[in-house]
Amino acid sequence: MNSAFHKILVVVAAVLVLTSGLCALSSAQQQPQQIRTPRQTRLPQNPDFSKLEIQTLKVQGNVQLLAGAGANIAVQSGGDGVLLVDTGYEQMGAKTLAAIRKISEKPIRTIINTTLADDHTGANGPLVKAGFINQAGPGLGGRPNEAMLFGHNNLLRLMTEIGEAKISTDRWPPNTYPGNQRDFYMNDEPVVMLHVSNATTSGDTMVWFRKSDVIATGDILDETSFPYIDLAHGGSVSGVIEGLNQLLDLMVPKHLQEGGTMVIPGHGRIGDEHDVLEYRDMVTIVRDRVQNAIKKGMTLAQVKAVKPSYTYEYEPRFNRNPAWTAEMFVEAIYKSLSSSK
Ligand SMILES: [Zn+2]
Repeated sequence: MNSAFHKILVVVAAVLVLTSGLCALSSAQQQPQQIRTPRQTRLPQNPDFSKLEIQTLKVQGNVQLLAGAGANIAVQSGGDGVLLVDTGYEQMGAKTLAAIRKISEKPIRTIINTTLADDHTGANGPLVKAGFINQAGPGLGGRPNEAMLFGHNNLLRLMTEIGEAKISTDRWPPNTYPGNQRDFYMNDEPVVMLHVSNATTSGDTMVWFRKSDVIATGDILDETSFPYIDLAHGGSVSGVIEGLNQLLDLMVPKHLQEGGTMVIPGHGRIGDEHDVLEYRDMVTIVRDRVQNAIKKGMTLAQVKAVKPSYTYEYEPRFNRNPAWTAEMFVEAIYKSLSSSK
């Protein structure tokens, strides 16, 4: 079957799964690798939080996806309790907790932040507190009586530099890791936090659920937009491309780049290796075009003057985020390449 046609079938199947009831649910359990969220566009800049609803989708193994609270939230659950990757907007905290409670009544034990932004870390405070266990004092080994919040060392450094006036301290991760990775075991599977250096920010983490065969990527993969590169907070285009290559190294497709390892992007639908390949190629091609312009001696103003041409064939799909346009993406690449010389 031709792959484009196959993709359409998969999307149609996903919509059917979402719109029909129990019978679709059982077919979802048989073919979890084919479920993709239909949410193709990101939330508006200043959403009306009272109108937002959260969708829950099974990804595969122990991992589910909560979409609609801001950035995508990955939920891994089992006998040990609940692990979250990112927490969504603060204003969505109560709805997010209600959606988690439908998956598991167990306490939230661990929360991992992939990056800095409000829609990833906003509800850290209330969801850490929701990890409360009804016991006297700290738990075994002096473990605090609430969820443990993890992030890379650099993420805590960025939050500290930005300061508590803008990011309240209950969003700062008290548990950090240095270097490239940290791993632990939870719910009968190895969980690996992988640091991607200087990608969308200097503090990015991907979370690899090794037994479920799912990776929560954070914003280096964004199915609703060109990847965000936060230059002011240590982001770089080469870091994003390195992160996407690292992701591809970890992924094993089931058949012709379809199925197998699944990724939960920072925003948008669930993907497989084919989606990551396409995205990596897109970022690399645009990077190369801007690099060529720099080699020709073009200034940023000249690059901006030919604005659509660097990204034109990708614009229908990725230029849909008013807060991060094709032009801003190209400008960030230009500055990123110019400063790294
Ligand atoms: Zn994001």
